[in-house]
Amino acid sequence: MDLGSTQYGEKQVILDPTMAVRILAKKAMEDPLAFWSEQAKGLEWSKQWDRVLDWDPPFAKWFCGGLLNASVNCLDRHVSSETKNKVALIWEGENGDSRTISYLQLYRQVNRFANALKRLGVKKGDRVTIYMPMVPELHVAMLSCARIGAIHSVVFSGFSSSALADRINDANSRVIVTADGGYRKGKIVELKGLTDEAVRSTPSVEHVVVLRRAGNNIKMGPKDIWWHEATENVQNGCEPVPVESTHPLFILYTSGTTGKPKGVVHGTGGYLTFLHSTAKWVFGFKRDDIFFCTADVGWVTGHSYVVYAPLIHGVTEIIYEGAPDYPKPDRYWAIVQKHGATILYTTPTALRMYMKWGDSIPNSFDLSSLRLLGTVGEPINPEVWKWYFTTIGKGNCPVVDTWWQTETGGIMLSACAGLGGCIPMKPGSATFPVPGIDVAVVDEDGKEVTAGTKGLLVVRKPWPGMLLTLWNDDDKYSKTYWTKFEGQYYPGDYALIDSEGYIWLLGRADDVLKVAGHRLGTMELESAFVSYPAIAEAAVTGKPDPTKGESIIAFLVLKSGFAQSDQLNQELVDHIKRSVGPIATPQEIYFVNRLPKTRSGKIMRRLLRSIASGQPIGDISTLEDGAAVDEVKQAYDELKKTIGRDQTT
Ligand code: ATP
Ligand code: MG
Repeated sequence: MDLGSTQYGEKQVILDPTMAVRILAKKAMEDPLAFWSEQAKGLEWSKQWDRVLDWDPPFAKWFCGGLLNASVNCLDRHVSSETKNKVALIWEGENGDSRTISYLQLYRQVNRFANALKRLGVKKGDRVTIYMPMVPELHVAMLSCARIGAIHSVVFSGFSSSALADRINDANSRVIVTADGGYRKGKIVELKGLTDEAVRSTPSVEHVVVLRRAGNNIKMGPKDIWWHEATENVQNGCEPVPVESTHPLFILYTSGTTGKPKGVVHGTGGYLTFLHSTAKWVFGFKRDDIFFCTADVGWVTGHSYVVYAPLIHGVTEIIYEGAPDYPKPDRYWAIVQKHGATILYTTPTALRMYMKWGDSIPNSFDLSSLRLLGTVGEPINPEVWKWYFTTIGKGNCPVVDTWWQTETGGIMLSACAGLGGCIPMKPGSATFPVPGIDVAVVDEDGKEVTAGTKGLLVVRKPWPGMLLTLWNDDDKYSKTYWTKFEGQYYPGDYALIDSEGYIWLLGRADDVLKVAGHRLGTMELESAFVSYPAIAEAAVTGKPDPTKGESIIAFLVLKSGFAQSDQLNQELVDHIKRSVGPIATPQEIYFVNRLPKTRSGKIMRRLLRSIASGQPIGDISTLEDGAAVDEVKQAYDELKKTIGRDQTT
């Protein structure tokens, strides 16, 4: 593929106004309600809505009066079509187990498990907490809840028992669905043991359903029932419950990069409409696609683009249970090759990890089945984008850099490969809003800034995928997202829109550095470090400075084959001065083996900020699962050991 005259954003481009994406975006701006109403027709409804939107800021009710069921949209519509016997899920266990499940088989399993939940007393509106490894039964559990109108709350299986207990208590769940264990990095994660600990402090829990996955030895107590026993002697068919469009489909706690997790609530009709449309536009699903989204279902990407969107579209998808580097640092490439994946949707953090190990590993696999590459979760450094495009996509696959959040439900900013909107691309830019999404970059007073000026991203119109509220906390919902700028949604990200309208995410607003009166997004500096050949990963933070306000501290991970030296330090300082400017000169550079991250792979800069400025690191228990907390502590100790040395200026 030719990146054309826009290669790496150096030259002028003129966008083709006839591109399908532009036409659709224009239509959406002219009459948003008619536009979204048209989009909602892509779903199956038991009863058509009366009003497209009731907007009582900041509360939006989409498709009022409409009734539908999420599991019908994911399954029933396919089992009455030629998709019936198509493979829905290709599952790869980390330990080498593998299964394929057709739409009909998935439909049958969901019907039976929905009946099992009913037998345990679960009713419409009840909360069910799901704490499972990445296995097909996770899909089954979620869709079974949806079938009977219960609200699922999936807790990432890497979280600790106390994080699980907090989430169960917040949602007041009656039932937990878990497994004996799941595989991660060659070890069994003892999910049942962790659940037992959590259940000691969660009085709302009446039943715990346990899937046998790992075959490890576990104790069953009076509240516990095996999955296979719960689904014995139930009827095959379970009538789906049509729910109001605004009925909560799920609660999902955000990954906690910036603070205490929030229970984001998504509805049914608006959320599914948005997923259906965004998946069609961004990925342009085709009948023979094999979609590989590497996200864990415990995160929003997993909910939206591993469970609901691909199934609504009837595509075949790959789900993988374990770590990207187990048993060898090639697992994603091995899976792409084995199943002939056509679309890969992954994270910058995974790509940086693979990039660090060199090209020869991916080059030893046949990746020619790929037609499209996607990323999500953090800004992608241009250097990493280029590597993805060239080494993985062999220059043949567009890269869709998708910006969105747990709260937005689905993709908000991205090139739209399904609408011919991928060319020209600019590595490191999430390009444009998807049709129907109206964003701007504003200053602290909420005034729109001019092209090329850095500021805060806002969304100016409600959209169907937006969260309904925060669970049991309308007030916090209002304050967190809608109070900073009256009537506009505030995502908390720092960004700029360039003179051609491309949007660049520069990092989180909370992490912005203020150096001698200049504001610098972490991304600007981190990408400059990563563009240096020796550097695999970078995290930048600030430290109070009496003259400059803040000085820049960088934590760097070297690529394989490179070593730390005074000369390298100096080269990096020169490189940053040259590429960003003297204002960006780092005060201190630390080389570390790894950066502290959330288990969803995001760098925890607030932790680094505390470390660099000698503040207590604060509460990390809500942020992390057990294993990652240890990693964070280890990284912290390593950093403490190095602090005080390696000063650059
Ligand atoms: P918390 O809100 O609890 O601190 P979190 O923000 O990490 O956690 P998510 O909803 O998973 O939880 O992540 C959304 C955030 O991830 C965005 O606000 C943005 O900062 C970042 N992000 C996601 N995708 C992209 C992208 N393509 N480019 C830049 N940033 C991205
Ligand atoms: Mg967030």
